[in-house]
Amino acid sequence: MSEEKKEIYLGYSTDKAITPFYQEFLEALDQQKLMKSVCTECGTEFLPPRQHCQKCLSLCELKEFTETEAKLRSYVIVDFAPESLVSKAPYVVAIGEFPSGLRLTAHITNLMSQPEVGMNLKLAYDRIDEKKITYKFLV
Ligand SMILES: [Zn+2]
Repeated sequence: MSEEKKEIYLGYSTDKAITPFYQEFLEALDQQKLMKSVCTECGTEFLPPRQHCQKCLSLCELKEFTETEAKLRSYVIVDFAPESLVSKAPYVVAIGEFPSGLRLTAHITNLMSQPEVGMNLKLAYDRIDEKKITYKFLV
């Protein structure tokens, strides 16, 4: 396990795209823009984006996700972390729900007290290094 890997959690390596679709997602994330995907057939939205619709298997297209305020829908406090995350434990993995109903799983990194379902969350970004970026929730 490299030192570099130790500090990454729920992050993306912006130089590791495996498809053009994913490349576009990473390039936007690199500009601190989160993309959702929208099914070209049935209009279902996915966050993080999926290239193919989970409902009808049609292709999705990327659209900028502009919501930044979410409510805490559910969370787990991780005390026993996998090796790569030991230095972060205990940490909170949250599911935030945006007004549109889209949900996103991310860490809450600035909690000073116990999380409470329904509390306000704000979407934010963390640049880990030149080629690694992640999104997170702040309270
Ligand atoms: Zn669809």
